[in-house]
Amino acid sequence: MISVDWAKVRGDFPILDQQVHGKPLVYLDSAASSQKPRPVVDALVHYYEHDHANVHRGLHELSSRATDAYEGARAKVARYLGAKQPEEIVFTRGTTEGINLVAGSWGAKNLKAGDVILLTEMEHHSNLVPWQLLAERTGAKLRFVPVADDGTLAFEPALLEGVKLFSFVHISNSLGTINPAAELCRVARERGVTTLVDGAQSAGHLPVNVGELGCDFYVFSGHKMCAPTGIGALWGRLELLRAMPPYHGGGEMIVSVSYERATYKQPPHKFEAGTPNIADAIGLGAAVDYLESIGRAQIFEHDSALAALAVERLREIPGMRVLGPEGARGALAAFHAEWAHPHDLTTYANEHGLAMRGGHHCTQPLMRKLGLPGTTRASFYFYNTPEEVERMAEILRAARQFFDR
Ligand code: PMP
Repeated sequence: MISVDWAKVRGDFPILDQQVHGKPLVYLDSAASSQKPRPVVDALVHYYEHDHANVHRGLHELSSRATDAYEGARAKVARYLGAKQPEEIVFTRGTTEGINLVAGSWGAKNLKAGDVILLTEMEHHSNLVPWQLLAERTGAKLRFVPVADDGTLAFEPALLEGVKLFSFVHISNSLGTINPAAELCRVARERGVTTLVDGAQSAGHLPVNVGELGCDFYVFSGHKMCAPTGIGALWGRLELLRAMPPYHGGGEMIVSVSYERATYKQPPHKFEAGTPNIADAIGLGAAVDYLESIGRAQIFEHDSALAALAVERLREIPGMRVLGPEGARGALAAFHAEWAHPHDLTTYANEHGLAMRGGHHCTQPLMRKLGLPGTTRASFYFYNTPEEVERMAEILRAARQFFDR
């Protein structure tokens, strides 16, 4: 594998080079949102300083430049996910909107009373609430794949009985579990079940190819993979997207409109009503180029090593329970210290320059199942270093002295 100059890469993130409360910032909250490298910020500035106009409608130079850049970003995202064509990529605000789009369009059209939607016990609220809303509207029922004690899914094919849609997280933001997405999709497909993969924690962290995953829908958020906030994408099989009704109505998504009715464009434009988030889509395209220039396999290897080191150090601290599976895990380590509430621990860490997340991580049902008030989560990205993990461990050891008196 080609080796990467990680120190040089880190230099692309000026935000990391600062003091917080008089201590060097250690940013371990990338699972919530990643930082942005200079090339992405530069792409936004360049766009606004040179090319901005509305897309798809103006017959003038700036509008055609903006359109080319916007559609060019779609092509980059398609390539990044291994999609067959750019038309399979719908720009969204992020994972949450992607799931709501599928629920509101595909779900409302295809589900009826008594149908089953299969989810898992480790889903983020954004892969729970849209299906709860849909179940209320349609009379469909929700079923859940249990989470076993080791933090993996206790999946059995029998759970797919009567299921129309199976929607599950690729990498859990609360446990770090990497679910066997390709295998789950294969078993579902054999039974005619449609699949949606929540890629919020996977798209920026490991090579993703939707063809190899074998899913029907894949959704992700740009802001967790070096792109701006407010942009993400839904990948869908083209024949499914073609058969789905629009999600929002308005300009951009129509072919012709009378006072009474309208006809709609083909996907993806059918799902992108109104002026889109042009600049941030271009920023997402720049982020995709940037991640590919480093290499996603390299990123995964780097982040895995940091997560493994973190787990090792955390286990050395008395009274510390580390969540998630043994062995391979996503770029995070979530833990619960029996001697401090996660909010107190995270606040203590912040005073020492360490940014982590404390709380339920938008997985309240999972926390309830685990019998925890929440956890503290350290999450990593390729700009983090082993020294930062050691610093985290040092701060947590000091926290134990502080709280466990
Ligand atoms: N799913 C998972 C697994 C996540 O980690 C997140 C973000 N924490 C989301 C969905 C929601 O993403 P967003 O808020 O960007 O829509």
